[in-house]
Amino acid sequence: MDCIFCKINRGEIPADKVYEDKNMFIIKDINPVCKYHYLLIPKKHYSLIEEARVREQIKLAKSLVKIPKLTELLHLENGYRLVLNQGEDAGQEVKHLHVHILAGTQMDWNPA
Ligand code: 5GP
Ligand code: ZN
Repeated sequence: MDCIFCKINRGEIPADKVYEDKNMFIIKDINPVCKYHYLLIPKKHYSLIEEARVREQIKLAKSLVKIPKLTELLHLENGYRLVLNQGEDAGQEVKHLHVHILAGTQMDWNPA
């Protein structure tokens, strides 16, 4: 499949992987928008939340609750923001669901 995150998962494209378990992996974003910018990527390919079957929904929930357990590794001590871009208006570029983890920078609230 011609999907950049699937290729990273299969080791066909290098990435700065900081964490991995059986459901997902976390890499550094290649184009960080703040001091610490990671992507939490489910190993299973799907693009939108509504495309996730029940099994994937459970894995995604487990992945999300794992984030605060990785506080030290991901530099989340002072707080963090999770961003999940879905579809056109959100500007989702990669059509493989991923959660942005943003930290290390005081962030304004400006969705535009
Ligand atoms: P989206 O706009 O789809 O929510 O975000 C896609 C993110 O993936 C962007 O922040 C972009 O910098 C990142 N990205 C795209 N290609 C690569 C890649 O090959 N490696 C890594 N580490 N990040 C990537
Ligand atoms: Zn994929």
